[in-house]
Amino acid sequence: MADPGVTSFGAVRKGFIDSIGNTPLIRLNKVSELTGCEIYGKAEFLNPGGSVKDRAALFIVRDAEKKGLLKPGGVIVEGTAGNTGIGLALVGNAKGYKTVIVIPKTQSQEKKDMLRIAGATLVEVPAVPYKNPNNYVKYSGRLAEAIAKSHPGGAIWGNQFDNIANREAHYETTGPEIWAQTGGKIDGFICAIGTGGTLAGVGKYLKEKNPNIRIGMADPMGAAMYSYYSTGVLESTGSSISEGIGQGRVTANLDGWGLPAHEGGNVDFWCQVTDEESLPLIYDLLKEEGFCMGGSTAINIGGAVKLAKEMGPGHTIVTILCDLGTRYAAKIFDTEFLKSKNLPYPEWMVPGYREID
Ligand code: PMP
Repeated sequence: MADPGVTSFGAVRKGFIDSIGNTPLIRLNKVSELTGCEIYGKAEFLNPGGSVKDRAALFIVRDAEKKGLLKPGGVIVEGTAGNTGIGLALVGNAKGYKTVIVIPKTQSQEKKDMLRIAGATLVEVPAVPYKNPNNYVKYSGRLAEAIAKSHPGGAIWGNQFDNIANREAHYETTGPEIWAQTGGKIDGFICAIGTGGTLAGVGKYLKEKNPNIRIGMADPMGAAMYSYYSTGVLESTGSSISEGIGQGRVTANLDGWGLPAHEGGNVDFWCQVTDEESLPLIYDLLKEEGFCMGGSTAINIGGAVKLAKEMGPGHTIVTILCDLGTRYAAKIFDTEFLKSKNLPYPEWMVPGYREID
């Protein structure tokens, strides 16, 4: 068969805001063949800010505009692992707002660089647990209050974890796109939780369309949601090098929509996925299929494989391709870093490796 090349041109997009969403749905060939299911990835890395969080950023800003909280020249303040900040900074540039981003020091340099390039004012804080008043989320809330008092244009706090404009973005856009792109022929959806916006919004939309669709949650090690969904107790064990996911509390975005059925929500499958089992999936995806993905996508694909195995062959399962691996080049694609964490890496990743002499 001839190489299909460019298969669809689509409509002209009218600027940055209009370029958010309507991302392709891509068949993940190797894991589909491995499981006998059709496993698809929603290509959120193709959003103009490079991640799934562009959608939430846009809806948070629109919501604040609608409520009259954000005026021309105003400031958007947010605590973020990086991607929401990048989305907010770029949406802010497109709409005429400034951004102040509070980020834990532990997040990748590549995301911090992108925030600086986008023109955001960056405040790096130590990575401390949520219960600590200096946690990046709480710190950003206080900073927003202070800036709102002193800045003539005012300021808003994005508050992505507990601002349900976040999950509305996925209920109104990501969910309907997945439903339309699969022609309603979808049996399962699964993703990890950062804020829970994606899982809650997509899960709610798909369940409303067809209550038989399984909604799955893939938890990285070190997060507390697997234990919470299983026993009602927030407990975490182990750790993960993935960024942007791994929640330790029930956020407002999860509440209701993103919880298990016994808590009145839409989630009916949950699993833990380790870095050891999931990183090889994205290394193969890069080397054998051409897609270079980040660590949260590894957890998502690992979860999709587990859901596929649980459901059996012949099912169609969708997950999220959150962002590009280049955002973590010095971590998940650096063999010295991986070695220091006792994590596996393929031989082609070793510097100096030559496939062809
Ligand atoms: N993957 C990455 C790389 C992210 O930055 C995030 C958001 N922090 C997620 C996944 C999780 O998305 P959500 O906040 O919608 O749960």
